[in-house]
Amino acid sequence: MLANGTWSDVDISFVANGLAAKPITLRPQTPGKAIIAGKSTLRLSGRHLIVRDLVFRGGHPLGEAAIVTRIGPRWAEDTRLTGIVIEQFSNPDRRKEDHWVALYGRNIQFDHSHIEGKQNAGATFVVVRLPGWPLDNRIRIERNYFGPRPLLGSNTGETIRIGTSEESLSASNSIIERNIFERCDGEVEIVSIKSGGNVIRGNLFLRSQGAVVLRHGNGNLVEANVFLGMGAANTGGIRVINRDQTVRNNYLEGLAGTNFTAALSVMNGVPNSVINRYHQVVGGEIANNTLIEPSAILFGAGASAERSAAPTGIGLASNLVVAGKTPAPFRIDAPTSGIRFSGNVTDVAAPADAGFTQRSVALRRAGNGLLYPVDPALVATGAPRNLIKPRRAEVGPQWYRLAASDKVAPVTLKVLPSGSAQALVAAVTSAPDGAVIDLGSGQFELDQTLPVRRRLTLTGNRARLSFRAETLFAVEEGGSLTLRGLEISGKASPLAAGNAVIRSAPRAMLTNYTIDIADSRFTDLAGSAGFDLIATTPGTFAARIRIAASEISDLSGTVVAAAAERGSAGLYPAELVELERLQLTRVGTIADVLRQGTDESTFGPRVSLADSQINDSGALRLSGVQVTQVAGNRFVRSGGIAVTHSVGEPLTRITGNSFIATPPPVVTELHFTGPARAEIRDNQSQ
Ligand code: CA
Repeated sequence: MLANGTWSDVDISFVANGLAAKPITLRPQTPGKAIIAGKSTLRLSGRHLIVRDLVFRGGHPLGEAAIVTRIGPRWAEDTRLTGIVIEQFSNPDRRKEDHWVALYGRNIQFDHSHIEGKQNAGATFVVVRLPGWPLDNRIRIERNYFGPRPLLGSNTGETIRIGTSEESLSASNSIIERNIFERCDGEVEIVSIKSGGNVIRGNLFLRSQGAVVLRHGNGNLVEANVFLGMGAANTGGIRVINRDQTVRNNYLEGLAGTNFTAALSVMNGVPNSVINRYHQVVGGEIANNTLIEPSAILFGAGASAERSAAPTGIGLASNLVVAGKTPAPFRIDAPTSGIRFSGNVTDVAAPADAGFTQRSVALRRAGNGLLYPVDPALVATGAPRNLIKPRRAEVGPQWYRLAASDKVAPVTLKVLPSGSAQALVAAVTSAPDGAVIDLGSGQFELDQTLPVRRRLTLTGNRARLSFRAETLFAVEEGGSLTLRGLEISGKASPLAAGNAVIRSAPRAMLTNYTIDIADSRFTDLAGSAGFDLIATTPGTFAARIRIAASEISDLSGTVVAAAAERGSAGLYPAELVELERLQLTRVGTIADVLRQGTDESTFGPRVSLADSQINDSGALRLSGVQVTQVAGNRFVRSGGIAVTHSVGEPLTRITGNSFIATPPPVVTELHFTGPARAEIRDNQSQ
């Protein structure tokens, strides 16, 4: 028994052999009252062990994981971990890779636990299968709450992974059952199955970006799960690869994901694939699934010169697709002659080779919260009536029931006396999370950088700020910045290269930040070379950078400089960059966004520039961006648009712009061998 209180920097080895009738238990004095903090780990080996009601909070794992069921070459089996809470346990460097739970051995149950908010690299929960170790694992992951995992911005942001490619042709026979996954957004895989014989049953995936992916291994079963995307970007369903997979009786509603996060995708394989690429889909069945308002259903997804083996021998039967207001979701990228279609129904025009009968389908929401056809003739089409999604009260520890929330503090409002730079510094450094600081029409001359350590809004009625530091705002851990109605001048800034109005931290930052600027003016930012408006830094990640309805003039550097990350891991510093209704005059570069490498695990970066007037300025430079939308802008005597496509299926639309004394857009492909994949239309050049 661990005494109540905080146990910091502990390396606990729980080594014992109990009996089935007499297991040996490690538990706190009171459930939830022994907190493991600091740099700590709990390692287990032996048989018939129980660990219950422990909390890991306020630290990060020592070694490979917070909980590991092995010590050196000895593993644990016939063991149960229950009522575990792990939160606020991320390595402070987001690029450092570790796990929260790493299960080796066999016959381990992990249940009624609460796992929320891993921010650094590394899958949250892994089942590890090494050569010569137990492969027939029989791990049971049941009735847990997997809470929000923010976008990682690289691979290894999975919530659960079972196995790795090396041993994936053997069966793990593990079960993931009746868990809730809420906003598990880390990367394109929420659950990554890399072994055979697993069951994913009766779970609820709530507003989570990504998909359940049968990445490697054969003979897995995905059934009776409920996916509710609520129309949120990148929310996906099930991606099928490999042999003899069964996907049945699932309900998927409001999933807005496309490509790798489509509501349903059956991928193309690589002929004679090596173990870690894509094996062909052979055999299996996809039956009695309901898909309501899906953005994408793909057959032969990912088809390319390399992924040229179309699905074969798989059945697609009695599925129901109701598109409602969404446009036609079906996309067929490879021959479907190897797919047996029968009894599938949809309300939209499906391509003939998608094997769906088209008819209208009226729906009614049933007592279980899910939509079903009113017409009794469709009673056997789509998901069964007896689906019951797990309730919040039946997952996680009984003694710990916090619902996911944004936990925004109540907003306070301060009106500063005009001209008091000291008062502004004091307000910014002491303001609570979520505070709004109102600068009115004041004028402020600042001698120092303002640190942004919480979510802050500065608003004004054309309040004027100038600064004598190299940077006006420094976004630090936990900070996010919103600006409204400000006029910011760089005239007083020192004549040093690399100045910026806003800069993220020089060291790695764990928490994703946002910058949101509207109705503001930025002037006199060309006194030194490379003066940026927003400068991002390596090891930090902006979930969103938005500048709207603002004027920027005489900036020698870049409005959004987001090219600081380098290397094949595919890191990038900002997920969403949104620029709209801007007036840019004599600006060095509009935006510079770079993502290197060939990894396909992320949603972004995504960049848009809309309805803006750009005069006598440099280019918009994008490389490795996944979604680019440039529409309704007027470029005059400027550098135009340079887009470089890397891997995946980048979507680039450049429409309705005028280019006056400005070169036309240039789209370059790094890997794809056909003509550049971009929609460039309705633009005018003079
Ligand atoms: Ca992955």
